[in-house]
Amino acid sequence: MSDLFSLRRYLLNFDERHLGQVFTDVLVIGGGVAGLRAAIAAAEQVHVIVISKNGQNDSNTAFAQGGIAVVQDVGDSVEAHVADTLRVGCGLGDRAAVRIMAEEGPACVEELIDWGAAFDRDGGGLALGMEGGHSARRIVHAMGDASGLEVSRTLGRQAGTSRRVRFFENCFVIDLVVDQGRCIAALIHHEQYGHQIVWAKQIVLASGGAGRLYRETTNPPGATADGHAIAFRAGAVLRDMEFVQFHPTALYVAGAERMLISEAVRGEGAHLVDRKGQRFMSAYHADGELAPRDVVSRAIVNHMRKTSATAVYLDARHWPAGRFEQRFPTIAKACRHFDIDVGRDLIPVRPAAHYMIGGVAVDGRGRSSIDGLWACGEVAASGVHGANRLASNSLLEGLVFGKHAGQGAAQAARAEAAPVGPRRLEHHLAPSPRTELDLTDVRNSLRAVCWRNLGIDRTGDRLIETLEIIDFWGRYVMDKVLGRRAGWETQNMLTAAWCIAVAASARRESRGVHHRSDYPKPDDASFLGHVTLQRAGDSVRKGFEPVRD
Ligand SMILES: Cc1cc2nc3c(=O)[nH]c(=O)nc-3n(C[C@H](O)[C@H](O)[C@H](O)COP(=O)(O)OP(=O)(O)OC[C@H]3O[C@@H](n4cnc5c(N)ncnc54)[C@H](O)[C@@H]3O)c2cc1C
Repeated sequence: MSDLFSLRRYLLNFDERHLGQVFTDVLVIGGGVAGLRAAIAAAEQVHVIVISKNGQNDSNTAFAQGGIAVVQDVGDSVEAHVADTLRVGCGLGDRAAVRIMAEEGPACVEELIDWGAAFDRDGGGLALGMEGGHSARRIVHAMGDASGLEVSRTLGRQAGTSRRVRFFENCFVIDLVVDQGRCIAALIHHEQYGHQIVWAKQIVLASGGAGRLYRETTNPPGATADGHAIAFRAGAVLRDMEFVQFHPTALYVAGAERMLISEAVRGEGAHLVDRKGQRFMSAYHADGELAPRDVVSRAIVNHMRKTSATAVYLDARHWPAGRFEQRFPTIAKACRHFDIDVGRDLIPVRPAAHYMIGGVAVDGRGRSSIDGLWACGEVAASGVHGANRLASNSLLEGLVFGKHAGQGAAQAARAEAAPVGPRRLEHHLAPSPRTELDLTDVRNSLRAVCWRNLGIDRTGDRLIETLEIIDFWGRYVMDKVLGRRAGWETQNMLTAAWCIAVAASARRESRGVHHRSDYPKPDDASFLGHVTLQRAGDSVRKGFEPVRD
């Protein structure tokens, strides 16, 4: 195990006296669904700053298509939603957390509607979509397939109505400051004002996912696992880092960015076919196209291998004319851009990295292992997804646990009598004499290695090789004090990839989205629990927490 990742505490050399000073009660890092919902909840009690590294719509939230899974129909029930979520989670889902999410979900959606969210309607009620792994129609959506954008806009507008909320955009959080076991500040780089330190009584980390670690991904450019790496450096416990979900169907056009083709397209009856036009999913799972995502992803990869093809296809040609365009206007438009007519043509697809299940270990209220630090949304490991995420449960998770984290952080901030304030802090790493590797090269190569070796199918040998490769790059990248965002992101990506590789090596079984062809079966006797990683001093503690009943 390399020292570089465990030794490195801060990416920045700093002396707090020379930094711009900012003060707040609650600092929220992230302006996606989880961060905005946390900010709205916290602002009911205290002053809040919300930081995002780009504009408001550069988040996984703004890209979400399918919608939010919530029980609405009389034929559906909270019990059924809980059971579906736990079943798909393959034994690792936290029953108590899943119940909170399923029970509180409908009220969170009602709140969004009160704040002006225009979800699609069917007659008098909400139109409900169907997605893989769900036993009932329960996916609330907006503008057909632009659900996340509607959620993002609604929450942004609502947060903006509070005089207690300030937004810092184009502002990069580099590290969290922990002093005497307590998280007290964040080191940031503001595009306009340069380096600053934000002192906060409580900090909520809601920095989203890690999809950009992979060459093939549905995630937008900002999903570089910053929060995972920042929390790791700060000494927070990370949990379940080996669990990365791959989406079976990203639009595949060679040379172009991948774009998600929502699960709902299959939910509404599109078939998966190979290049001969043959359906193949029934050979892999009884639920066919609606089997859980990990099953469909692996089936596609197998089938591509068997048929020596670079893609499989979604076939919606049997749908009534115009239905696809009406139900999925964004996807239809993207296909048109590549000259694919969804009514006449097959849509080429293949799997891509989609969702980071692992992250900062939190309790049922969003508290991390570090005093003063909370986490919610995709950067957190709340336990609701277990070893595999049920479709459309993550916007829901962000809403429900974002609210809890915001409320909890605000209460804790109010209980602080003394204002949080400057204290003498500095950090200096001697410059390394080694030459710097080309960061763009490292980043692209890392993404290719992660796709090959930390992807849908893993083996022990390739995991060890990946750790060696990351260590090698680390020697030229992690020992540097870099001055720009691309550098910090690359350092974060290396750190998060290293954590995924370490956790995936430790889990010598296959479960949910983590598939190892050298250990193809689940092994409950040894692995019914969670792999944890924690940087402690200059070493890394690897742990294992058995599942709670
Ligand atoms: C294409 C696509 C489709 C999806 N469809 C669905 C769906 O239909 N239903 C569903 O439930 N889920 C869906 N998901 C998953 C879901 O969108 C995400 O899991 C969820 O939105 C994550 O929300 P979040 O608030 O945790 O993070 P995000 O929405 O990703 O927000 C992260 C925020 O953190 C900020 N940030 C990150 N790093 C830093 C840093 N260093 N400094 C400052 N700010 C930082 C970013 O700028 C951003 O504002 C989809 C995801 C994708 C990519």
